[in-house]
Amino acid sequence: MQLLFLGTGAGMPSKQRNTSSLALKLLEERGTIWLFDVGEATQHQILHTTLKPRKIEKIFITHLHGDHIFGLPGLLGSRSFQGSDQPLEIYGPKGIKEFVESVLKISRTHLTYPILFNEKLEGRIFEDDTMIVETALLDHVIPSYGYRITQKPRPPKLNIEKATALGVPKGPLLAKLKSGGRCRARRRQDGKKLRSDGSGAAWVYLIHFGRHPFLPSGD
Ligand SMILES: [Zn+2]
Repeated sequence: MQLLFLGTGAGMPSKQRNTSSLALKLLEERGTIWLFDVGEATQHQILHTTLKPRKIEKIFITHLHGDHIFGLPGLLGSRSFQGSDQPLEIYGPKGIKEFVESVLKISRTHLTYPILFNEKLEGRIFEDDTMIVETALLDHVIPSYGYRITQKPRPPKLNIEKATALGVPKGPLLAKLKSGGRCRARRRQDGKKLRSDGSGAAWVYLIHFGRHPFLPSGD
């Protein structure tokens, strides 16, 4: 997960700072990019990076002032020019749907992908296996929202070589260890109790004298 600031200015762009936009790179986590606000010329800023508009999965708009949304129509068009057919989700205060649909209609811009709008910014607005997005109303002259992104714990990686060396046979027990469960394995006279440390980063192996070889333990 990486944050890339595409613009940190307000009101109008300067040579040093473009208007607001922030990219959250989730390429490793989900192969996509999330954008927060799309100020004017955000796509020009993107040209100076390795970001690909077709990889943008979600766009979150904090509020409807122009310095946060005037770059949106052009970016949507470029995402279409790149031939993307993947849906794009846009979250924002009430009015963002009307803004986008009006610009696209008047400019006769036809997109190659559908846009899903979400203008109901209350509490938890998105959750899947990997991420949670929550909102909170901020203090500004028009309705403005903050977004809190939480990454869920990543699934653990099983050290198959080590588990095999400790006597765990291939099959259901390996799968059980991988999903965070426990099992007992017996090698020669020693039983070894194996378990995940729960962090997903490593596996902890506890020495234990088990009665039955390769039986899942209930504790
Ligand atoms: Zn504002």
